[in-house]
Amino acid sequence: MASDQSWKEKYLQELESADNREKQWKAERNTLERMLVRTSLASEGQTPELDRLLARIRKDLRKNRVDVDAWKDLQDQIDRQVALLDERQSANDRKPSFFSRLAREPEQESQQQQQQVSAEPLPESSEQPESLPGNEQDIEDNVQRLRIARRVGQLLGQMLTQVSLEPAAEARARALQQSLLASNDWNELREGLNHVAELVIAAVTRSKREFEAFLKRLDERLELLKEHFSAQSSAQCGRLDASEHLDREIREEIERVGQRLQESDDLQDLKQSVSRHLESIGQAVGRFRTQESERERALSEQLEAMQEKVAAMEAHSEQMQEQVRKERLRAMTDLLTELPNREAWQERLSFEYNRWQRYSHPLTIGVLDIDLFKRINDSYGHKAGDRVLQLVAREFRDRLRTTDFVARFGGEEFVVLFPETEPSDARAVVDKLREHVGKLPFHFRGEPVTVTFSAGLAGFIAGDTEESVFDRADRALYQAKDAGRDQVMISDSADVQ
Ligand code: GH3
Ligand code: MG
Ligand code: MG
Repeated sequence: MASDQSWKEKYLQELESADNREKQWKAERNTLERMLVRTSLASEGQTPELDRLLARIRKDLRKNRVDVDAWKDLQDQIDRQVALLDERQSANDRKPSFFSRLAREPEQESQQQQQQVSAEPLPESSEQPESLPGNEQDIEDNVQRLRIARRVGQLLGQMLTQVSLEPAAEARARALQQSLLASNDWNELREGLNHVAELVIAAVTRSKREFEAFLKRLDERLELLKEHFSAQSSAQCGRLDASEHLDREIREEIERVGQRLQESDDLQDLKQSVSRHLESIGQAVGRFRTQESERERALSEQLEAMQEKVAAMEAHSEQMQEQVRKERLRAMTDLLTELPNREAWQERLSFEYNRWQRYSHPLTIGVLDIDLFKRINDSYGHKAGDRVLQLVAREFRDRLRTTDFVARFGGEEFVVLFPETEPSDARAVVDKLREHVGKLPFHFRGEPVTVTFSAGLAGFIAGDTEESVFDRADRALYQAKDAGRDQVMISDSADVQ
């Protein structure tokens, strides 16, 4: 019985781990297939025969029809095409082609890379005289360092767009960025990298200092307010004391008059005494009035000073709020296209996702990618590419509904959220936009240039996460690319996992 039980348990455990293995394998296969589709799309446009073979790979993948023998044959044909391409290319160009690098075995690839690297201009290494040309490891190390310095230079550039530094520190940072991006002297670069840390600390402490100063000023103003209120209440007490004092003085004078009236029979004497007392009373009232108006004057002066200080404090706090608002906007905006950037997208996506979970109203996501954008850069230059991105982004912003949300996801890829919209309705919107962009009259170097984009759409469905629906839209985008570009595809339910 006991052994039966343990067999059963073992069997169930085995079944579960086989199931997990299968799931893991499926996920890996899925990722590999997607990478293969992208790589084959990126490799298009060399020769028609190669394009045909690449399309065949994508078709087999799409139909889930990978036959190992047939693919071996396909691989041979691709290798042949690549060899032909290389022969042709070696006449114009000594560098190995993208395809031969794709087809080459990994070990060959790394050797090749090293040879290529050693052919590039290398940094002078005054610090390590033993690293002479010929020592490949040292050369590789230097190249690695250079790469790191360049990357830090780029990151520094990004940081400078996000934070505000004192003008002197900003100038130093710009010079530093230039040297990180351009210098080959390792001593200078190492020095530069040390300064980056100082700069970051300077940027952080500056904003901290500004806030501290603001809080200190706020604290001082509050202290003044407190003093004012305590002055007010002691003035109130003073006023009470003074009027009680006056009251007492008057009562005493009246009592004295009453006594004199009882004690004296001499009318003349009485008259003088009463008028003396009346005079004292008048003087007491006069003193009281003077003191009172003195107190009033001091109080109103204090009040005026306080009002001025409070007004200054309000103005300053508004200024600070405005600055915080501007900095936040800057951190959420893409510099080139002025569209919301990826951070802003994540924030909005989470917001809409929570609303969708709560109310279940329809919500559609779109991924839009400019077609063959690399060719625009290659043919007319990076600046022309930037201009295309700016103009297309402007069309996206102006033509989408204000309730929709569009952001630059990165490179030539844009993302849109369509709240309260089914995928089929979003498709009509994106199709109209696509037709419009396709007709924009771009001209570079006097040539008319057509710019198109492809898009993938996916609607949120039960069980979705932010990532799963994005993945479906992304996959639909690559189906649109695969089907010839310049079109919109909706992720079909078979894609749902
Ligand atoms: P596909 O139709 O398959 O999307 O082809 P593609 O050429 O558009 O796609 P690919 O991903 O091969 O190339 C995208 C290019 O976009 C490569 C990159 O240099 C360029 N790019 C990315 N960001 C910018 C940018 O800010 N400015 C410019 N000018 N080019 C950029
Ligand atoms: Mg593209
Ligand atoms: Mg892209």
